[in-house]
Amino acid sequence: MTMVDARGSSRVTGSHSATDAMLQCAENFAAARRTGSEPIRARPARPATGVAVLACMDARLDVNTLLGLDEGDAHILRNAGGVVTDDMIRSLAVSQHQLGTTEIILLHHTQCGMMTVTDDGFREQLFERTGFRPPWPVHAFGDLEVDVRTSVARLRASPFLAASTSVRGFIYDVVSGVLREVDAGAEVA
Ligand SMILES: [Zn+2]
Repeated sequence: MTMVDARGSSRVTGSHSATDAMLQCAENFAAARRTGSEPIRARPARPATGVAVLACMDARLDVNTLLGLDEGDAHILRNAGGVVTDDMIRSLAVSQHQLGTTEIILLHHTQCGMMTVTDDGFREQLFERTGFRPPWPVHAFGDLEVDVRTSVARLRASPFLAASTSVRGFIYDVVSGVLREVDAGAEVA
C-alpha cells in the first residue's frame, strides 16, 4: 500500500513523512520555549496532581484535553485497550513508590478496537501476516463495563500498589465526549 505525503510524492506506507512533519513541530516547540518570558527549567518529575491515568491508546481519546491536564500534571500510561498488564503494574508501581502518585484513573472508551477482535482471531491474523504467533495474550474483550470492573479489581488487588490508592474506572464516549464512571463495587480490603 502506498500513500501520498505532504510533498505530493508517493511513498510506501510506514515512511517517515508524518514523523518528519512532527519533528518540525518539535523544533517549533523548543523555539517557543526558548523565547518564552519564563526562565527555562524543567517541572518536577513528580506529577503535580498525584494522579496516574491508565488509558487505551485510541487516537480519539485525548486524555490531556479531556481531563484538563498540563505538562507535569499526571502520568499517562497507555496500551491497546487500557489493559492492566504486568507492565502497566510495573509502571504504576514506579509511579506510586518512586514518584508519589496516590490515585489511579482507568479509562476505557466506546468503539474500542479490542472489542472487534478475539484473542485467537488476532493471533491467527498475526500468524498469517508474519509467520509467528505471539507468546503474549492479546487481551481482547467483549463487554466494556465488565472489563472496567475487572480491571479496577485487578488494580485494587495488586500487592505492588498502595492499599490506600484511589482506583476509579470510566468509559469515554468517543461520539458525545461524555465521560461516565463505572460503579466498580466496594473497594477490595
Ligand atoms: Zn480502545
